[in-house]
Amino acid sequence: PCWSSSNGSIRNEKTLAMIKPDGLFGNYTVRIKNVILESGFIIFKEKVVQLDEDSAASFYAEHSTRSFFSSLVKYMTSGPVLVMVLEKENAVADWRTLIGPTDARKAKISHPHSIRALCGLDSEKNCVHGSDSTQSAEREISFFFKEVSTGGVVTEHDEL
Ligand code: UDP
Repeated sequence: PCWSSSNGSIRNEKTLAMIKPDGLFGNYTVRIKNVILESGFIIFKEKVVQLDEDSAASFYAEHSTRSFFSSLVKYMTSGPVLVMVLEKENAVADWRTLIGPTDARKAKISHPHSIRALCGLDSEKNCVHGSDSTQSAEREISFFFKEVSTGGVVTEHDEL
């Protein structure tokens, strides 16, 4: 079901959050989860995954022509990641705000309280991921959690 609040926004919007290998190695998981819970998210699903090269490349397929792509795949396969489905009103945008800008060096200056400022290193090793739109969230959640439905509407087909 799609619970709507008085302003019409979706109260159970979902996004995909990920603690990348540097975040797990650096022991930032508990601190990051505290930020998540204190910010009003529900951790709807979570699991630890070791990505292989094919799955990391597929997850970041939109960047496959970029110069940093092979380095990104190497980074993302360098250790396990923790993927979480987070749920709350405005989850996609609010999680993006909490993680801060892509380049952790910039985050430390412009968004010092962001998660990437806390545990990221540079424009690659930035310790966390967040879906950048509701469409991306839908793709990324089903990438890791086949069983989670993100659509607000339960169709008759879903009931079969
Ligand atoms: N990335 C990188 N070099 C860059 C830009 C991005 O290695 O110059 C990596 C970084 O880990 C980033 C990911 O590629 O999180 C995806 O890039 P995107 O531009 O989608 O940033 P995000 O949405 O994660 O902030």
